[in-house]
Amino acid sequence: MQISTKVAFAISLIMLGAGTVGGAVALQQGEQSRLEDFKTAHDDSVELLAVSVAPAVAEERFERVQAVLDNVHNFKERFPDVVDIEIVRPDGRVIASLDPVRYNTVIDVPIPQGQSFAVAETKETYTVSRYIKLKHSLGKIRATFSKEHLNARTEVLMKQALMLLLFSISAAGVALHLVHRRLVAKRLSRLAKAAGEIEKGNLAIEAREEGSDEIGELAHSFNTMAKAVRHYTEDLESIIAERTEELQAANKRLEQLATTDQLTDVWNRRYFDESARRALEVARRNERPLSVVLVDTDKFKSVNDTFGHPVGDEVLKAVAAVLKENARKSDLVARFGGEEFAILMPESGIGLAAQAAERMREALESDVRPRVDALGDRVITASFGVAAFENASDRLEDLLSAADVAMYESKESGRNRVTVANRHEVEDPPSASSLSGEIALEKGMAADGG
Ligand code: GH3
Ligand code: MG
Ligand code: MG
Repeated sequence: MQISTKVAFAISLIMLGAGTVGGAVALQQGEQSRLEDFKTAHDDSVELLAVSVAPAVAEERFERVQAVLDNVHNFKERFPDVVDIEIVRPDGRVIASLDPVRYNTVIDVPIPQGQSFAVAETKETYTVSRYIKLKHSLGKIRATFSKEHLNARTEVLMKQALMLLLFSISAAGVALHLVHRRLVAKRLSRLAKAAGEIEKGNLAIEAREEGSDEIGELAHSFNTMAKAVRHYTEDLESIIAERTEELQAANKRLEQLATTDQLTDVWNRRYFDESARRALEVARRNERPLSVVLVDTDKFKSVNDTFGHPVGDEVLKAVAAVLKENARKSDLVARFGGEEFAILMPESGIGLAAQAAERMREALESDVRPRVDALGDRVITASFGVAAFENASDRLEDLLSAADVAMYESKESGRNRVTVANRHEVEDPPSASSLSGEIALEKGMAADGG
């Protein structure tokens, strides 16, 4: 049930209670005063009758007395309540009556000692008895009146009052309902709707602020609160966005730190190992060729000793850069440790890898020195070892140690050269590559690189 209906219902009930009590009191008082008027009027008319019949009674002209009574009877509209009138002599004999049957009978008309009249009352009738006097008492008159009209009038008035009461209560109930609905219920329900929108996440909602009463103030507070929530949410969202961006940048940086060598900016050993293991699995599954190349800078200790560690760093950077520039996109160049580098060459059999290694060796020999001014005419070279995936059972460690052996062979045979691991003699290669049988490419260059 709506609040406005409840309020109207409650107030109507209160009004009904108050109206019933008030109406009952008013009716009671009205009834009392009408009864008094009724009695007074009839007392007066009986007194008047007593006076007007007195001379005829005194002269014992009873037919005249009866004529007066008949006259009363004939004027029903003037005396509508008259039921009976008897006039008796002092001994109680009826000398005139509206009811002829009583004529000449003896009745008792008691009037208390010392009083000139007496009244008797029932629910339906009112009886007045009084003396008929001139100089002395001539007899008595007794008149009985019906209260029928009086009671009927009271009943009509009660019905009217009840109707009026019910009508005013219904009208007041409806009016209250409408007023309350407009002033309170509708506005509260609009506020509740706005609050529901906020609950659904629609923070842009604004409640209608009307009036400066309590509900108006509530709507104003609601809007202030919604605004605060909106701002708070927006602030929170921008903070989250900012933090997310920072976090993403930090993650990226962390990932780079975890996978890249900080000095030379090529991949680090960890990343090389992971990638090489995965690439080896792919090559094994698809029966594709794969090679690794190990590169060790020649006589690097003497570079440090001659030019200083910082120049040594510059040389390492230059070596890494030249290796990267001469590698294919699909090759993976990594710093393997100290002045050593490793290159993973997917889809390259031993022949292609050896060619690539040779190209890199030549590039180092010619390109590193010009990039590091401090070197003067000191040429930087490196020794290469190449090994290819050949046996289905090959692990990465097998490939690396084969490449390492080949690289040491390059060192031992004078440095600045490429040696291919001589593995194909142990087992036939799975690859059909025509280059897989190639032998070590040797260069008759200066072993100590200057
Ligand atoms: P080889 O031709 O036999 O390889 O001789 P090498 O001098 O290059 O070999 P060795 O292993 O004796 O020396 C390697 C040197 O590389 C020793 C070490 O101080 C230097 N080195 C390793 N890492 C770095 C680095 O990050 N920066 C610099 N400047 N030097 C490094
Ligand atoms: Mg070394
Ligand atoms: Mg070295």
